[in-house]
Amino acid sequence: MAKANGIAYAALLQLRDDVIHIMKDMPAWQNEDVETLAEIPLGVLRRNATQRHGVTRWKRGANLNTLTVFDVEVIDLHPSLLLDEWKAYAAFVLHHEYIHALGWRAHDSIFRALESSWPGTINVLDGPNFTDSLRLANAKWLWICKTCDKSYPRQKRGNRNYKCRHCSTILIDQRVQPE
Ligand SMILES: [Zn+2]
Ligand SMILES: [Zn+2]
Repeated sequence: MAKANGIAYAALLQLRDDVIHIMKDMPAWQNEDVETLAEIPLGVLRRNATQRHGVTRWKRGANLNTLTVFDVEVIDLHPSLLLDEWKAYAAFVLHHEYIHALGWRAHDSIFRALESSWPGTINVLDGPNFTDSLRLANAKWLWICKTCDKSYPRQKRGNRNYKCRHCSTILIDQRVQPE
């Protein structure tokens, strides 16, 4: 965990309040005291974490069979989620972590049902697109789709082995900077 600076921390608290406010109206959470989620400390992941967008860390020694909100040490979110353009996806990610915090540790079918009951506007590609935005900083290659003009930043060549996520066209390599 990295320490959130003042601006990031203010954004985390706003996000927290927004998500808890929405959860209070969700049928899935009518029997849970979602207000207690506000007690959980929030932090940010290291900026170079590209695969994890959020993580719930349990206190050392917590009983994994009876987890509650009070067993959570901290929830860390990727700092780039706090940018305005990722606001909707950030809320979805924090809701995901709050499901863990309420005691659902595994990503099983119940977890996925709770997750998909989130009423916010969210696209199935938000997660992959967010990962791409994080990868862009270190990209050496762009995998280009000639059909829909989308490009996917990557460290390695794709060698025409990958298809566009949107239209399934085979992606073409384009070098970003000399290796
Ligand atoms: Zn999870
Ligand atoms: Zn395409």
